[in-house]
Amino acid sequence: MGRTIGIDLGTTNSCIAFSDGGHPTVIQSKSGSRVMPSVVAFSAKGERLVGLVAKRQAITNPKNTVNSIKRLMGRRYSEVVDYLNAVSYEIVENTNGDAAVRIMDRIYTPPEISAIILQQLKITAEEFLGEEVTDAVITVPAYFNEIQRQATKAAGKIAGFNVKRVLNEPTAAALAFLEPEGVKKLVVYDFGGGTFDVSVLKVIEGVFEVKATLGDTTLGGDDLDTKLVNWIMEEFKTETGIDLTRDNIAPQRVREAAERAKCELSMTQETDINLPFIATGDSGPVHLEITITRTLFEELAGELIKKTIPLCKDALEDAGMQIEEVDHVVLVGGSTRIPLVQKLVGDFFGKKPAQSVNPDEVVALGAAIESSVLTGQRKDLVLIDVTPLSLGVETLGGVLAPIIPRNSPIPMRNSRVFTTASDNQSVVGVHVAQGEREIIDGNRSLGTFELRGIAPAKRGEPRIEVVFEIDANGILNVSATDTSTGQKQSIKVNPSGGLSGTDIDRLRKEASANAEADKIKLKFVGLKNEADEVIYRASKSLKIAREELDKESWEQFEVEIKNLKLLRDGDDSLALEKGISEVRKQNESVSKLIEMFDTAEESATSEFLDSISKSEGE
Ligand code: AMP
Repeated sequence: MGRTIGIDLGTTNSCIAFSDGGHPTVIQSKSGSRVMPSVVAFSAKGERLVGLVAKRQAITNPKNTVNSIKRLMGRRYSEVVDYLNAVSYEIVENTNGDAAVRIMDRIYTPPEISAIILQQLKITAEEFLGEEVTDAVITVPAYFNEIQRQATKAAGKIAGFNVKRVLNEPTAAALAFLEPEGVKKLVVYDFGGGTFDVSVLKVIEGVFEVKATLGDTTLGGDDLDTKLVNWIMEEFKTETGIDLTRDNIAPQRVREAAERAKCELSMTQETDINLPFIATGDSGPVHLEITITRTLFEELAGELIKKTIPLCKDALEDAGMQIEEVDHVVLVGGSTRIPLVQKLVGDFFGKKPAQSVNPDEVVALGAAIESSVLTGQRKDLVLIDVTPLSLGVETLGGVLAPIIPRNSPIPMRNSRVFTTASDNQSVVGVHVAQGEREIIDGNRSLGTFELRGIAPAKRGEPRIEVVFEIDANGILNVSATDTSTGQKQSIKVNPSGGLSGTDIDRLRKEASANAEADKIKLKFVGLKNEADEVIYRASKSLKIAREELDKESWEQFEVEIKNLKLLRDGDDSLALEKGISEVRKQNESVSKLIEMFDTAEESATSEFLDSISKSEGE
């Protein structure tokens, strides 16, 4: 068996490392490079180019050069439509609805393109180590859902790797940064080419526990480049009257130059962009020559960079940690080289971010450390990850009852007991969903199943235990059991029902934007459920009290119950509240009168699973 290597399969660049006796080292290519651009190109002759050579020919061969493939991994075509114009190659919808890439009439899936990158990394590792390499730990953003993780695993397999673990990038960074002894709290601030995420970790004597993770999958260095590109194009247009956006090759040249300028501005106060023969004007060729200062770049990109700070605040809050408690802030990703990023992060946390690790290499080094844990070379480390969004089931009235709250450590098992909504109900529908909204519709549905054969009983009596289990790879298993009969039904949540990182952002943003409206809706749902309960009890009393009550009072009581039914089906919450209180009062006096009502009967559970076939039991 060969060695296990650690692979940081990045959006922009990839990096590999290996572990010797538990100590990680970056693997260099033959030419001495420590990172490789994650770029794949196909030449006119059908030749495959990978890494720097592919990146270098991008300007002359834009349609057949694929960069940032990570943004398409495990994504539906409908999820990436905003991204279509941001790349020079063609993104298409595969027959199964997934995003894919068309190059010279051939369709490539994102795992296939990623596999070409991984194959090159495998060759580099084998050349460097002088032996065959088959086992690997590959890192992914903490935000990747199950489908994206599976796609990454598939890419590894296609490339000929045995993928031993798919590891979260911030966890890898923490592993590489910290010595495992003692108790430490740290924040990993990861700002790369395509995404931003921040994770809060607690390390106690070698146990690395992610307490919270948050991010924005639509914010990265590419977006800062876009700000510069737009400004350069505008300036050029004002000066020459020429619109470069219409050209085939010019936008790609400007983008490359803008990125280079951005990187230079991390070291210098100003830089020049010179692009000769960028266009042809009335009097011949036109050149683009422009000076960009760091101040100008900060003005253009500052707003985007500032968007990362509230997310740091929220992540700390989710982790239940105060700013002062943070021992270290670790920077990951190329965009953290920007001085304004370092300043804003330092100001927010009140301490200078750690400079001891290279942000381009720290993730691969951490992956190599994890590989040494898996091969048993290191026994002093344990990793505990979290689930990024709450998981739960739909209850009566369309309310999400969370069973595993977001940022819970995985693997995780949790259960809750529910009951039926009507007498003799023999079937309940279990609808599993993921998200932060209290109303079910605002969340992502992951699947449904029915539990049949519930023993005949009064509404509220059966105890149906719903169990959620997430394994170490993030796969969710849900089961429902009627505790009196032992009747059980379960589903494994199909990965195609999972959420993409963008979904997670969207759901989180929507949840806070709609919190107020949801509260009102929720209160109304609660009232309707309460009305159901009151109607049920009052109808029971009404039946029994025919003898005890005089005709007029009995009929009056019946009318009030009928009215309450109408109010329950209407949309006037104030009237409903009043109706409930009146019928409840009336019922109390009737109950006293007949002295037969079983007031002691209070169900052990008060939540009703929404029934998809309620009528069967009625
Ligand atoms: P990553 O995804 O971590 O490889 O980060 C890639 C992103 O970092 C790209 O947007 C790069 O343009 C950006 N980047 C790399 N080096 C620098 C630098 N010195 N200054 C600013 N941005 C950089």
